[in-house]
Amino acid sequence: MRYISTRGAAPALDFQAVTLAGLASDGGLYVPESWPLFSQADIAAMAGLSYVETAVRVCAPFVGESLTESELRGILTSAYASFSHAAVAPLVQLDDRHWLLELFHGPTLAFKDVAMQALGRLFETFLGRSGGHVTIIGATSGDTGSAAINALANRDGVEVFMLHPKGRVSEVQRRQMTTVLADNIHNIAIDGNFDDAQALVKAMFNDASFATRFNLSAVNSINWARLMLQIVYYFYAAVRLGAPDRAISFSVPTGNFGDVFAGYAAKRMGLPIDRLIVATNRNDILHRALASGDYSTCSVTPTDAPSMDIQVSSNFERLLFDLAGRNGAATAARMQSFEATKAMVIPADQRAAAAAIFDSAAIDADTLAATIRWAHEHCGEIIDPHTAIGLAAARTSAGTTPVVTLATAHPGKFGDAVTRACGVAPVLPARAQGLFERKERYDSLPADLATIEAFVAARARPA
Ligand SMILES: *Cc1c(COP(=O)(O)O)cnc(C)c1O
Repeated sequence: MRYISTRGAAPALDFQAVTLAGLASDGGLYVPESWPLFSQADIAAMAGLSYVETAVRVCAPFVGESLTESELRGILTSAYASFSHAAVAPLVQLDDRHWLLELFHGPTLAFKDVAMQALGRLFETFLGRSGGHVTIIGATSGDTGSAAINALANRDGVEVFMLHPKGRVSEVQRRQMTTVLADNIHNIAIDGNFDDAQALVKAMFNDASFATRFNLSAVNSINWARLMLQIVYYFYAAVRLGAPDRAISFSVPTGNFGDVFAGYAAKRMGLPIDRLIVATNRNDILHRALASGDYSTCSVTPTDAPSMDIQVSSNFERLLFDLAGRNGAATAARMQSFEATKAMVIPADQRAAAAAIFDSAAIDADTLAATIRWAHEHCGEIIDPHTAIGLAAARTSAGTTPVVTLATAHPGKFGDAVTRACGVAPVLPARAQGLFERKERYDSLPADLATIEAFVAARARPA
């Protein structure tokens, strides 16, 4: 399997190179040259497989020659041994039509662990072969950072610089990052919002001499390997609910469009997905783009679902590339214009193509809280605010197809908002207790490229 850039001007790479590279050198994102196709029989044969074995089958065509099947199985087995639930991603039934897919049983209590635990091991395996090292630069609205730091702490060959928007992540999120005192982990609190942090990361990658000098790499969802690892749970859940004989819909609490793009990939690979519901909070650029073609940024409004307080969704470029008939030059021109004007209109034919697959909804604060209450009163489930956004969108969707809402975080990670909504304080799992007693370490810096680059240069290992 080869990977090509959405902007058409970077070299095609194999899986190992694409994993270590993160962003493409032309500023685009890597996507598979073509979507591997799973037949009905292939999907039927996944019935009853464990999470790890499902993952081996789904990932194998993407990994190609970069790993043997036994290396792949070894990495996935070890990654998911860090989860506290034997099913890794258990399904929970809410009513006759609605299900939750619990993706938060990993070490940092959000779905980011599902990909990150395997990604950390992929880095170690690939770097071990070459004896090389990389500098991971990331921006986080909270959960990516903690998942990455947990997965990469003390791993050989990896130095991690994680930027988070100061004061805009929950205390649990911050402490999950800042209490990891490993020498290769550097937390930076940025004066600004998540989009400012993400823009700084992009700017460091686009500074070619800096990027080359420190061998920059990325673990946020611009990294293809993360999306590949997230495709797995769409297959795992759909097969358990009757695929390939029955179509399933998924509702996905969306920020950077990574998780829902993995669902889109699963559909392109032959999984019978009926609708993919893009659920946003008040930061609704994706809902506007899909519903009316208006992809223009507004300022970010802080909400109870901070991991979705995002305006510029990097992975949307991957969908735009497909919608534009995989024309790299056209996608590059559109993205450059968007970066300059902060606005883009999705043409009617492309909007119609997207509407054949995606629904969308923007969920306000009252509906979010009412949905947490509904799940508690009618199903005995305590859900987190991100999951509630997904479930709220799922419950307003038409039709009779079963809908799986991705439960992206443990409610204890956002305990205050959950308690305000339903009067019950969620209990943090034992593995997260002690977080409030541990020593924290992080640096606060302005959202200024030169300052951040100097900070990294003083601590990273030159290539
Ligand atoms: C990251 C995150 C999201 C959004 O996922 P994207 O891949 O960025 O769309 C939703 N919920 C939680 C809890 C998250 O951590």
